[in-house]
Amino acid sequence: MLELRPNCECCDRDLPPDSPEAMICTFECTFCRACVAVNLGGVCPNCGGGFVARPIRPGALLAKYPPSSKRIHRPDGCAGNVEAT
Ligand SMILES: [Zn+2]
Ligand SMILES: [Zn+2]
Repeated sequence: MLELRPNCECCDRDLPPDSPEAMICTFECTFCRACVAVNLGGVCPNCGGGFVARPIRPGALLAKYPPSSKRIHRPDGCAGNVEAT
C-alpha cells in the first residue's frame, strides 16, 4: 500500500492525498509535478527511475488507511539543476 507522503521532497510543498500534483517513483519517492518537470527532468534523484502520477485514494478509505504524516525533505537531492534560493 502506498504511504501517501505528505509533501514534495524537493520544494516541501504540501501534497495531500487527493492532490493531482503528486508524482511518485517505484520506491514512492514523492515530488510535485513542477519539480519533476523542471528540477528533476523526470528522473528520480534518489533511485534514477521515472515517475508516474500518484493514484488518488478515495476519501472514504483515508480514515481506515490514513496517509503518512512523515515529511521527507531532501533539498540537496534535487538541487542539481536548481538555483539555490
Ligand atoms: Zn516540489
Ligand atoms: Zn526514487
